Amino acid sequence: MLVHAVKGMNDVRPQAADAFLDTRVWEYVHTVAAEVLHSFGYHHTWLPIVEETALFARGIGEETDIVSKEMYSFTDRGGRMLTLRPEGTAGAVRAYIEHNLGRTDPVQRWWYAGPMFRAERPQKGRYRQFYQIGAELFGVAGPQADAEMLMMLYRLCQRLGIVDAHVRLNSLGDDASRQRYRDALRSYLSTRRDALCESCQHRMDHNPLRVLDCKREGCRAVVQDAPDIIDVLSDDARVHFDCVQQWIGDAGIGFTRDKHLVRGLDYYTGTIFEFTSGALGSQDAILGGGRYDRLVQELGGPATPAVGFAAGVERLALLISQREGVLKGGPHLYVVPMAGAESAAFRLADGVRANNAAVWRVEVDVSGGKLKQQMRRADKLGSHAVLVLGEDELNTGHGRIKILRTGAEVPVALDAAAIAAVLGRAD
Ligand code: AMP
Repeated sequence: MLVHAVKGMNDVRPQAADAFLDTRVWEYVHTVAAEVLHSFGYHHTWLPIVEETALFARGIGEETDIVSKEMYSFTDRGGRMLTLRPEGTAGAVRAYIEHNLGRTDPVQRWWYAGPMFRAERPQKGRYRQFYQIGAELFGVAGPQADAEMLMMLYRLCQRLGIVDAHVRLNSLGDDASRQRYRDALRSYLSTRRDALCESCQHRMDHNPLRVLDCKREGCRAVVQDAPDIIDVLSDDARVHFDCVQQWIGDAGIGFTRDKHLVRGLDYYTGTIFEFTSGALGSQDAILGGGRYDRLVQELGGPATPAVGFAAGVERLALLISQREGVLKGGPHLYVVPMAGAESAAFRLADGVRANNAAVWRVEVDVSGGKLKQQMRRADKLGSHAVLVLGEDELNTGHGRIKILRTGAEVPVALDAAAIAAVLGRAD
């Protein structure tokens, strides 16, 4: 009998029929991520995939879905209770404590990439063995750490050509704020208990914040009018969160403050965030993370503030594989100048490259010839999109980007940022 891969676990390989499982896409994601993380001063770590079960139970929280239902746990030959890691932060914190880094230099920037395991119901974008690229910044309590991490993640998305990422932020405040909010939320929910699903009726008592996150319609309607944590934040927590928002706004990053945003792991405190993309379907989170100022201490280390994130590699790969150029290795944009438009074409092409730190391949046709031949050449190279520049385009300042796979023509202003936005869209 043929043995198959375990349900919810994928083979990433060359020429994969599902483009998002293709080797080239994964190499591209890892290369770009490594460059961006390195450029922000992060050091690559390789930590064990297996840890003692108690680490996750204490770190992530017994009441979370991950710990209560999704862990792959087993007893090894020595009788130890072990678990395949469902996420990377608990292990990183364990290592940070074990090597006494709090005493030598508490400020540490770490990143990792590797498989995680959760026995969730598999569906598009959700697997039982999936890969994360993540980072932890230990030892900085101030909002500059949160803001810098968000800027780094924004840069990562830009570099990967994911320009439609929606940045959502919230604050879970400090312990006192969170306790006040839990009480307020619980008393609000208790007046509407019957409208909640069965799981949320249980969550309401044990972990009321998770009700905000429920996807069922009835529960979503109930939380619409739920109290907002922002109203019960302590002054310190509010100033911290205001600073983060101010600084990333100053950096030109658009975001939404989402009062319903919570995270599936209990260790978060203060700022939390998620980047989503409509192109992913129902599993729309590209990455998530936030502050976890108590975890190092809770796991037996010295009091150490920290902030971290994890991005799903399958989801990054899904977004990227929808842009054909990455797979075929051809240019993302092939610019075809008519006679007289050469200089404008070079200028525009260079603007798009600078806009994306040269990760997008932009090629200007220098072969001359007839338009038909130039278009054929664009196709043969495996280009994702073509922009023809002629007299009309230069006079009006507007052109049309043709997406070769679909034949769609998208009107665009002749401006590097506008062109980059069209190229980054998944259509
Ligand atoms: P989390 O560790 O739950 O905060 O998730 C961080 C990121 O990992 C998410 O935004 C997803 O991109 C990805 N992710 C989480 N769970 C899965 C899964 N079961 N399959 C694929 N990707 C996942």
